[in-house]
Amino acid sequence: MSPETLVKLSTTAPFSTAEFDEYVMTTYARFPLTLVRGSGSHVWDDQGREYLDFVAGIATCTLGHAHPAMIAAVTEQAQTLVHVSNLYYNTPQGELAKWLVEHSCADRAFFCNSGAEANEAAIKLARKYAHTVRNITNPIIITANASFHGRTLATITATGQPKYQQNFSPLVPGFHYVPYNDAEALKNTIAQLDQSEPQVAAIMLEGLQGEGGVRPGDLAYFQTVRQLCDEKGILLIMDEVQVGMGRSGKLWGYENLGIEPDIFTSAKGLGGGIPIGAMLCKSHCNVFNPGDHASTFGGNPFACAVALAVCHTIENENLLAHVQARGEQLRAGLTQLAHKFPRLILEVRGWGLICGLELSADSNFTAADIVKVAIQEGVLLVPAGLKVLRFVPPLIVTAEEIDRALVAVDRALTLLS
Ligand SMILES: *Cc1c(COP(=O)(O)O)cnc(C)c1O
Repeated sequence: MSPETLVKLSTTAPFSTAEFDEYVMTTYARFPLTLVRGSGSHVWDDQGREYLDFVAGIATCTLGHAHPAMIAAVTEQAQTLVHVSNLYYNTPQGELAKWLVEHSCADRAFFCNSGAEANEAAIKLARKYAHTVRNITNPIIITANASFHGRTLATITATGQPKYQQNFSPLVPGFHYVPYNDAEALKNTIAQLDQSEPQVAAIMLEGLQGEGGVRPGDLAYFQTVRQLCDEKGILLIMDEVQVGMGRSGKLWGYENLGIEPDIFTSAKGLGGGIPIGAMLCKSHCNVFNPGDHASTFGGNPFACAVALAVCHTIENENLLAHVQARGEQLRAGLTQLAHKFPRLILEVRGWGLICGLELSADSNFTAADIVKVAIQEGVLLVPAGLKVLRFVPPLIVTAEEIDRALVAVDRALTLLS
């Protein structure tokens, strides 16, 4: 079936947003838009209207929509073998693990289906390491304020934002929060927690806080974090779910900070839109034995074959250099807008193709207001908190598409100011 036929089918039998809400739980405040098709950096709604997609499934559709390499991998693997469970070996899982290990600081991989699950696996691994290697009975994991690590009970607890925890108590014990990018606070917290006996098992951080406002980590801070971990035998867990897989212009976010974690997690961009998560570690903390952790779907041949196609495409199409160039173009354009609207824009920041534009306290509108106007202008964007507009286009985005998004933001700012 051609894409044109698909559009026709869905416009002749529209499923209204009101009917949708009669059946689906309202866990999301959705924009009134039903998307039916995508190609490259573009998506179409059920009215046939085209949009430039600078959300990419929230930093997930690495190769955009309907990329030939993904279509080929999906089609071939669906015709070969989709799922067999982890009772047996499967080749795509081994090949994907090998690629990830060869292209990172890690030695081993565990596969699951989402970012939250990958972080759960990291939390369990760090706890087992604390119990079995360091004899810590009540291990504590330190995380940062304004972090985001997922929506399961352990990961909302790890997430240093009370709004995600409200009404879900009792939370999981064993977490402690520090301000992000504040080395002194971290030192003092560790000293306090470890005062009578060592308790701090791990420090879990994003190299750049995505959800929390597109805030890059400081180089000096992460050097100190690494040093503290080395001195005390604490594990450094990096959450690479949003910033990993090339989005930062390097394959992994930690490469921007000149340090290596002991454990890191990946999900969002890893499968290019197919659900998959991974937790990777160095051999010294590879302490899981059979029965310690598992996932029915995790690492199935289908998800792994597609993720492997995403990995190979990033490599073969030299996407990291492309992400760096397009990211610089985007930040230069946003910086120009900051000069044009100095009263409205506080800061432009980010790495590669994860950029944030923070509105000033003076602006009497929110990032979501810009998103709404941008939709009218035919560009999809997503906020990261109240006052930060986030840009996370597919890594294959073109120079012309970046320019078009900048024009839409310019028009939105003009209209709202
Ligand atoms: C999105 C995100 C998660 C959660 O991933 P899910 O796949 O939604 O469970 C975890 N950490 C970070 C940094 C994220 O951006």
